[in-house]
Amino acid sequence: MRLTDDALEVVKNYPLCDHCLGSLFARLGKGLGNKARGEALRRIIIMELDRMVREGEITREEMERIMSNLDNEETMKVAEMLGLKVQRKACYVCGGKWEELVERWARKIYDILKEYEFDTFLVGCTDCGGMEERQREIISAFRLPYSESIKNSFKREVGKRLKEMLGKEPDFLDPDVVAIMDLKNDKVKLQIKPVFVLGRYKKLVRNVSQAKWKYPYSVEEALERALKDFQGEEVLLHASGREDVDVRALGTGRPFVAEVRKPKRRKVELKPYSDGKVEFSFEGYVTRDWVEKIKEQDALKSKVYLAIVYVPEGISDEELKALEEFFKDVTVSQRTPKRVSHRRADKVREKKVYYVKTKKLNQKSFMALVKAQGGLYIKELVSGDEGRTEPSFSSFLGKEAKCVSLDVVWIG
Ligand SMILES: [Zn+2]
Repeated sequence: MRLTDDALEVVKNYPLCDHCLGSLFARLGKGLGNKARGEALRRIIIMELDRMVREGEITREEMERIMSNLDNEETMKVAEMLGLKVQRKACYVCGGKWEELVERWARKIYDILKEYEFDTFLVGCTDCGGMEERQREIISAFRLPYSESIKNSFKREVGKRLKEMLGKEPDFLDPDVVAIMDLKNDKVKLQIKPVFVLGRYKKLVRNVSQAKWKYPYSVEEALERALKDFQGEEVLLHASGREDVDVRALGTGRPFVAEVRKPKRRKVELKPYSDGKVEFSFEGYVTRDWVEKIKEQDALKSKVYLAIVYVPEGISDEELKALEEFFKDVTVSQRTPKRVSHRRADKVREKKVYYVKTKKLNQKSFMALVKAQGGLYIKELVSGDEGRTEPSFSSFLGKEAKCVSLDVVWIG
């Protein structure tokens, strides 16, 4: 029989345990398991050797030599019964330590994962400590077409053992944690899936930046505190647009997705948070694709701003009325403002202003409520940015107008 002949040729030359012998024929008899495959082949080989000796095809010494390559307790028992002197040799691929290795690495991963909350896991392997190379040597020497890489079967066996220990399910597509074994360096590397939370923030004071930056305080830092129960390594803020450091975000607040990296806890009760400068409300858990979604939403959403405008030459009630009438559903073409041109592509964007409502404060300043399409720079809508934004309050009035304070009060 071809299969037995192949297996016999292999064990004439290499000592192998049941598992590693079975792995050489792993694609035959799906569902059997490598250990059972190896066990079946080993038993057939012993019987075949016994027949060959009885029929004078090989000597007892040859049988003893081949049997010493069948690394298994049962082999020794049969040898004793047959009165053969067999020196058991350790498996060439795993050193006769397969079960021990599986148990040891499963235990090692288990101990590391104890600190983490998760539902699903996956086991990976970067280096199998030479097992893969030794197995490949045999596969190519005997041209065995039905083998399975020992790395695969090691990952699978450790995964199975872990499943028993943890009472949790492996997930091959999108696991919460991936434990990657490196046998050569005796290390386990963990990949922890981030947690994503959808929320809105309000910036109650000025001089708070969105991301951690050169300003003393940022929304991102506050977010880290708000989500500290996840015990993550880092919290990233993915917001739907941004306001300037000196602009507050009030009213409905700005939507964002928080990405908690390497969280030790994945299920935390999401409570509103406020530290007097920044406020958060959380809507719930979301998937990774919300990071892009929330960023794209910015341009589609309309916003309402409250601006205090200063006109050095002074402003009349009639001019304010005319300004309100003019800025009704007006398309503004805005070249990237000078002050942000270092970080945004220089191009002209067309954005809508839906309405402007004003309230005069004194001879030289007024309050303006502006509803506009997301992405329109309001400070430049007021000043004109030396002609880069057209039309602007300045160009319409025919005199300098300056935005001295700005708040976002509503985001759709
Ligand atoms: Zn082995």
